[in-house]
Amino acid sequence: MRTAIVWFRNDLRVHDHPALMAAIAAADRIVPLFIFNQALLTGKHASANRNRFLVECLQDLQSSLQKIGGDLLIRSGEPKEVLSKLIEETGASELHYSIDYTPYARKRDREVARAVENDGLEIVAHPGRLIADSFEGVLTGGGKVYKVFTPFWRTWAKLKRRQVLPAPAKLTVPQNMPGDSLEIVTEHISQADLSPNVLKGGETAGRERLEQFMKTGINNYAQMHDSLTPDGTSRLSPYLHFGCVSPREIEDMLRTMTGDSAARFHRQLAWRDFYNYVLLHYPDNATQEFQERFRGMEWSYDETALKAWQRGKTGYPIIDAAMRQLNAEGWMHNRARLIVGSFLTKDLLLDWRLGETHFMRMLLDGDEANNNGNWQWIASVGVDPAPVFRRLYNPMTQQKRYDEDGSYVRYYVPELSKVPDKYLAEPWTMPPDVQQEVGCVIGKDYPEPIVDHAAARIDTLERFRVAGRP
Ligand SMILES: Cc1cc2nc3c(=O)[nH]c(=O)nc-3n(C[C@H](O)[C@H](O)[C@H](O)COP(=O)(O)OP(=O)(O)OC[C@H]3O[C@@H](n4cnc5c(N)ncnc54)[C@H](O)[C@@H]3O)c2cc1C
Repeated sequence: MRTAIVWFRNDLRVHDHPALMAAIAAADRIVPLFIFNQALLTGKHASANRNRFLVECLQDLQSSLQKIGGDLLIRSGEPKEVLSKLIEETGASELHYSIDYTPYARKRDREVARAVENDGLEIVAHPGRLIADSFEGVLTGGGKVYKVFTPFWRTWAKLKRRQVLPAPAKLTVPQNMPGDSLEIVTEHISQADLSPNVLKGGETAGRERLEQFMKTGINNYAQMHDSLTPDGTSRLSPYLHFGCVSPREIEDMLRTMTGDSAARFHRQLAWRDFYNYVLLHYPDNATQEFQERFRGMEWSYDETALKAWQRGKTGYPIIDAAMRQLNAEGWMHNRARLIVGSFLTKDLLLDWRLGETHFMRMLLDGDEANNNGNWQWIASVGVDPAPVFRRLYNPMTQQKRYDEDGSYVRYYVPELSKVPDKYLAEPWTMPPDVQQEVGCVIGKDYPEPIVDHAAARIDTLERFRVAGRP
């Protein structure tokens, strides 16, 4: 009897799962496995929001596997040790998993391969997390790694695609395998760090959201995706991060659609592949600036300013609304992420890594490749470069452009709910009698701006000019 282990990681679904389907085709018995290790529970990227979402994903996966005769085995410990023991217990002859390009995952997978190499086990890594099956040969005409998105995207769009796979109909698993309970995770989740108003995790919830978005939301995506009011994006990012929905399956759905919106949405999905490609080729980006000339850049350090930014108390309404959205929902609109990213690095002059770390702690979709890539992009130190002034946003102008009617700011910053439109982006300009009248006295009910944008802009341009000198 041939036994295969399917090691689930960030691919928590049964639909379009190449690793699961390949294992079923090759073996008589399957051991679907998830491993909790210390890094997930307490490591540098541990997050209460994401761990709660993960528990829901695993419960949903467990239930889907049970419906077809299987189950999900949960074990805790270091993957190489857990897997060695499991191979011994089950006599498994093959291990299947979905490729993960992050530096952490690649190191972990190498360690596992070394630990089990004498067990006669065949290890097969499958696509499934990204749209592209592989990045082999994805190089410029001169044979170099792409550093700019658009040319990457042109090559990526022409890559051969695999067929989308159905969910399996039946699964045979070994009986009575002792496993751990998900409580080992829940007891590590600090209630104080949880956002109150988050999406529910799991493939079932993810597919429902996808279906709904494809029915209605997608139609206006090209016009609405940048607007904060109403929110015109899919909010599929947490489901994509945990692999509850397959990006390749989404791409297939888009192929039957015409028009700007489907094309625009497809392009956004390509950014996900791009940042994974970048991290695969430049793993050091996880800790340092891609652009060497900015590695010694002088950043300020101001704990009070960082806390004000994190709590949504900077005195700039659009920044405060966005940061409060993150605190409440474990999610933030992309436009808002860009504005707060620019503000942290170019108004407060704080190191982009502080923003990256905070986002990783709070975001349901917190993802090393996407988070790091985007933080470096908005800090003007990463791939896909542009002059610093192009990504140095004026918070007032951005608010007026992307929250035209003010409803985003008024919803997340209720102290400003009665502030008249003409003062909403700069409430500190309200005359004192208006402040009294609308119950929003600046410095008492709502903070004074913690920084002067015009002065910070000059400072930033100068710092980048000095750092960028050859
Ligand atoms: C500073 C900063 C940090 C970010 N951190 C993350 C992160 O940790 N995880 C994450 O998934 N995204 C991150 N993003 C990218 C983007 O903001 C989110 O993917 C998007 O807001 C998710 O919402 P949505 O699913 O409604 O997006 P939609 O607009 O509906 O897009 C569909 C999908 O395309 C992908 N996508 C869209 N834009 C981007 C992008 N710029 N980069 C990479 N993928 C993209 C996402 O998977 C997204 O779910 C970050 C952006 C910024 C500016």
